[in-house]
Amino acid sequence: MNLKEHIRSVPDFPKPGILFYDISTLLEHPVAWKVTVERLAEAIRPFKPDLLAGIESRGFLTAAPLALELGLGFIMIRKKGKLPGPTVPYTYDLEYGTDTVEIQEGAVPPGARVVILDDLLATGGTLNASVHLLRKVGGNVTGGACIMELTFLKGRDKLDIPFASLLQYD
Ligand code: 5GP
Repeated sequence: MNLKEHIRSVPDFPKPGILFYDISTLLEHPVAWKVTVERLAEAIRPFKPDLLAGIESRGFLTAAPLALELGLGFIMIRKKGKLPGPTVPYTYDLEYGTDTVEIQEGAVPPGARVVILDDLLATGGTLNASVHLLRKVGGNVTGGACIMELTFLKGRDKLDIPFASLLQYD
């Protein structure tokens, strides 16, 4: 099955000049979505995860069914101020300014093998920040994966973990 046929590309979203790859049409198709989850399961198997981490918000959609499929727990990496209870933050630089991601204290057992999921890798900034956050709380990040990768942005080069993607766009 060619999963690219189920991804819609939307020109000029969220800003003029950006071509946005939309997974809504993939999620709407139960067979294509099931195949996506199965292929991701195969792609991350070599990373031998104990736990999956999803990046807000489409990373949640990606990681949660995958965690069920693999019989693993799922934890959330969220933007600042969204998680209840004590949290641990990690602040990283953007082109203009900074951003902060957070995780709940105690979400990662010490030394747990964690694999990070998101829908798409662009510059790699978001995934790289998530790697640092998970390390800060004692996780052993053994890999990352996305449904889509914008290869021309070379985000993969920013990462110091093994990375897998199902669909590449150049
Ligand atoms: P990066 O930090 O790698 O530059 O950007 C990746 C983040 O932006 C991901 O969390 C992803 O959800 C979002 N993103 C950027 N461009 C797109 C796109 O074209 N389609 C989708 N679905 N997400 C995008």
